[in-house]
Amino acid sequence: MFSLITLPFAPDALQPVISADTIALHHGKHLQTYVNNLNAALPGSGFEELPLEEIVKKSSGGIFNNAGQILNHNLYFQALRAPQADNRPTGKIAAAIEAQFGSFEAFQKEFTQKGTTLFGSGWVWLSADADGKLVITQEPNAQNPVTRGLRPLLTFDVWEHAYYVDYQNRRADHLAALWQLINWEVINQRYE
Ligand code: MN
Repeated sequence: MFSLITLPFAPDALQPVISADTIALHHGKHLQTYVNNLNAALPGSGFEELPLEEIVKKSSGGIFNNAGQILNHNLYFQALRAPQADNRPTGKIAAAIEAQFGSFEAFQKEFTQKGTTLFGSGWVWLSADADGKLVITQEPNAQNPVTRGLRPLLTFDVWEHAYYVDYQNRRADHLAALWQLINWEVINQRYE
């Protein structure tokens, strides 16, 4: 059985980038529903004893969709913190981004553009491959880079439920503002 994660911030701590209303819906309703659905589907599935990431790698259909969305949202919410105006990567991930993309700004532009242009619902990810090389991917619906052997580091949720209350159809504006919330210490821990 899986539980809804506790957020590492107060519901109103991300304002004005993400409102307390959006957090109440996104974490309290959408993510809770994925948790409830997975827990209801697990008995008799053969996946009961597996950790979440293994379920995502091995399942399909409804179990995959709900497990994938739990993993995706846990990685998303756990890397957010209160807005900081000039929020930039630090440490090892900052050096890797500069080495590979030329600058943080060039990386930011490509990542945001891939999030903005993803058609329909899904996620944009920064991941590391087996050699530590960084890759940006667009993943539809509940997909997660772990299914392709990548280690997920950073993600933006581009499902409409993530921004519609605060930004209506303005996905690009939401993604541009999200950079203020990224907790680069968490991203560095994932990259270690
Ligand atoms: Mn979401």
